[in-house]
Formats: sequence, C-alpha cells, structure tokens
Amino acid sequence: MHYLTSCRLLFIVPLALLLSACATSPTGRTQLMLVSEGEAISYSKQAYIETVAQLDQKGKLVTDTAVTGRVDRITRDLVRQAEIMRPTSRDWDWEVRVIEDDEQVNAWCMAGGKMAVYTGLLKKLNPTDDELAQVMGHEISHALANHTAEKMSIAMATSLGIGVLSAATDRPELTAAAGAVAATLAIQMPNSRTAESEADRIGIELAAKAGYDPRAAVTLWDKMGKVGGASPPEFLSTHPHPAKRQATLRKLVEEMMPYYEQARAQRLRR
Ligand SMILES: [Zn+2]
Repeated sequence: MHYLTSCRLLFIVPLALLLSACATSPTGRTQLMLVSEGEAISYSKQAYIETVAQLDQKGKLVTDTAVTGRVDRITRDLVRQAEIMRPTSRDWDWEVRVIEDDEQVNAWCMAGGKMAVYTGLLKKLNPTDDELAQVMGHEISHALANHTAEKMSIAMATSLGIGVLSAATDRPELTAAAGAVAATLAIQMPNSRTAESEADRIGIELAAKAGYDPRAAVTLWDKMGKVGGASPPEFLSTHPHPAKRQATLRKLVEEMMPYYEQARAQRLRR
C-alpha cells in the first residue's frame, strides 16, 4: 500500500482542520498532521510501555548486558548529537530495548525517542559499531524529523477509518487508546521515499558527528540488501531504486567525512 504523505488526503477532512493540519518538515516538505508532535510523543510513550510489558511477559526482552550495553552505548552517543541538532529533544525520555526475534532484521524509533532493535538485525547482519550506529541514527532521525507523528496522522486518517478521524477533528475527544493504536501502527508503516531520504541524511550526520564512520552506511546497505526475507527491513523498505540510493549515500559519505574526522579527533565516541 502506498501511503500518502502530502496533503492530498485532506479532501476528506473538514476545512477548519485542514488549515491547521499541514506542517512543514525540516526539508520544507508539507506533512499531514492530524496529531501534534506532543500528542504523538505521549501516545507513543503509552504504546511503548504496553509493548515492552507484553514482550517482558513473553520473555522476549534481551537482558544480556553484553548486548544491551553495546546498543545503549552507541545509542547514547547518537542521542547526544540528536539533542544538539534539535534541542527540544532534550526533553524526550529516550530509551532503547533489544527485542528477541531472530527473524526480524529491523529497528524502529517512535515519536519521543522510544526505540527498539531486534536480535535478527544483530545476528543476521553482524553489524560493526559503525554500522549499528547508522541503523540507530537513521531510526532516530525519523523521530527527529517528526515522521512518526506524520505516519500516526495517516494511520488515523486511513487505517482507523472515519470514526477515529471524526474523533480526531474534535481533538479533546481523541482518546489515548486510539492514539496508542496509531503509534503502534505507525512504526509498522513504511515511510515515504522522501521521509527515507531525510532520515538517511540526518542519520548519517548524527553518526558522523558522534564519531561513527559514515562509510558504514554503504556497507550496511550492502549487507541488508543481501539478507532479503519476506518483509524488508525498515531501513530498506520504500526504496524502489537501490542503485540511486546507494549513489546518494556515497555522496553523503563524502559530505560527512569532515564531521567524522573532527569527532574522532575530539574522541567523542565512547
Ligand atoms: Zn527509514
């Protein structure tokens, strides 16, 4: 299914809402916004708490500190840069969990910095720290660029149907339960190609500024391409032109090398 990311969808939304529902992304793109970022963050937090509790009950949360410690360390390095790039994210309650699922070669970040990475990604790709930083940097960037709130808006408008949409038009009555459902749906929905390009760009920059080699974005991309599987990793999802993305990444690598060299000189990476 192709999700609309422009305001084309708004013909079904009352005019008053339409006027307030479009926002602009960091690259100047118009985004459909039925859910404010603040709402997206609070609904995502609720959804994350529920998801983590369910996984914990099933014994699906990795507790091996050799694994979680590494993911934590790399994520913390990236978060430090994210908070510099976007100071409002200092208020976010950043958190990352490793989920036991060897089939999922995936990771995600909800609005407000609630993250997860699956053991399938760690085992099947066997990423270096530099490569893992690219994955987490890319996912963090989706949250920084407000893509999650955008997808939640689309989930409200399309998947959940008119009932929730009409609730959304009367914002105070938008229930937290519906919001949490939308937050959960949002991390399962593919991003638009434009959103993917934004996340690639911001992600590689965060990683470089944290001292992680931008060239790892290219090797990671190669590794992911070889893994395949029934459902492509989020990092690979909505990209019908792999060669073009590969070329764009290579160009970004050149741009980001100075940040990387500078971060290395300052020993920013822990
Ligand atoms: Zn992505």
